[in-house]
Amino acid sequence: MKLPDKKGYFGQFGGKYVPETLSVCLNELTIAYQKYKKDSGFKKKLDFYLREYAGRPTALYFAERLSKHLGLKVYLKREDLLHTGAHKINNALGQALLAKFMGKPRVIAETGAGQHGVAVATVCSLLCLECDIYMGQADIQRQAMNVLRMKVLGARVIPVKSGSKTLKDACNEAFRDWVTNVRNTYYLLGSVVGPHPYPMMVRDFQAVIGREARAQILKKQAKLPDYLLACVGGGSNSLGLFYPFFNDRKVKFIGVEAAGFGLSGLHSATLVKGGVGVFQGSRSYVLQDKFGQIKNAHSIAPGLDYPGVGPEHSYYKASQRAQYLAVGDAQAYQGFKLLSQLEGIIPALESSHAVYYLNQLAKKHKGKTVIVCLSGRGDKDLDIIKHYEAERKI
Ligand SMILES: *Cc1c(COP(=O)(O)O)cnc(C)c1O
Repeated sequence: MKLPDKKGYFGQFGGKYVPETLSVCLNELTIAYQKYKKDSGFKKKLDFYLREYAGRPTALYFAERLSKHLGLKVYLKREDLLHTGAHKINNALGQALLAKFMGKPRVIAETGAGQHGVAVATVCSLLCLECDIYMGQADIQRQAMNVLRMKVLGARVIPVKSGSKTLKDACNEAFRDWVTNVRNTYYLLGSVVGPHPYPMMVRDFQAVIGREARAQILKKQAKLPDYLLACVGGGSNSLGLFYPFFNDRKVKFIGVEAAGFGLSGLHSATLVKGGVGVFQGSRSYVLQDKFGQIKNAHSIAPGLDYPGVGPEHSYYKASQRAQYLAVGDAQAYQGFKLLSQLEGIIPALESSHAVYYLNQLAKKHKGKTVIVCLSGRGDKDLDIIKHYEAERKI
């Protein structure tokens, strides 16, 4: 299996739809990545930091009470146990180390909810890299705690006041900065989106999730699972879990997107509700109106609030390797409560979308084995929960 091809295509999706100046930056990055991913010094360092600093391998936990409750065999891949509380550190460590090996002393990144920004600020502190984070002005106001975290860690947070003042505008600003300052600057993108080589590179750095899970499940029950289940924002935790099982054709992949307020709206469900278009440098599914304008996404989960999705997911959808569904805010809230109260694990609201979908799976597939990617922990979301409950008098 060779995905993507040399030009960065997954079937008809992916590629590199960018101006010439940016293409030069991306080519330099592609060559460096191809070189260092095979370099034993690079691999050794990355393994070291993943193990000693981030806390890998993460547990594959058999959720006994949840399994009994649902009539399924549910295993949780515990990315919530990692340093900084989510899977994003896997990618941040990989790319920051690449920046270091490339001799770039400055790292820039975009962030929406601030989770990726915190992961980047963390690894830049660790590896002694200068760090500038672009963040939409609207997001800065909503995510004061993560802004503070980034600043405490020594990063600069640069407010973006253009467009909708959210994640996609922050991405555009970061690309602009990169083109101007590429000589000393590395752009650390946060999910399996954007132009080639990012979708491939971020997937490779997140694939440690699926490699571990595959070995762990074989050790625990000597057979592969029936289903893999994960939430999809840009698509990195899900692809990280899915990709190492790609050739295990009997293992079914289910990606859960955010439907926002309700199933009629499908406010963030890019694969379920969107159309094919070019967005932020690659061809993929995207949420757009009938004039091709990008729509703003909404979800109760800050990390699922993105109108695009990675091209490899679009390819999995088109080739039916994976199935994609949408779950709304109210259901995600139920998933959040279910896992908290049955297992003593407070999941991130993003992961709660996948947890909720277990109910649907259980209706038709009793007794099957499922691995759920628990992409992050929910402590960061308690304020949202507080407001959600107060508004509804729960
Ligand atoms: C950012 C985030 C996501 C969504 O991003 P993907 O690239 O789709 O994984 C999901 N869960 C958590 C906890 C996150 O922080």
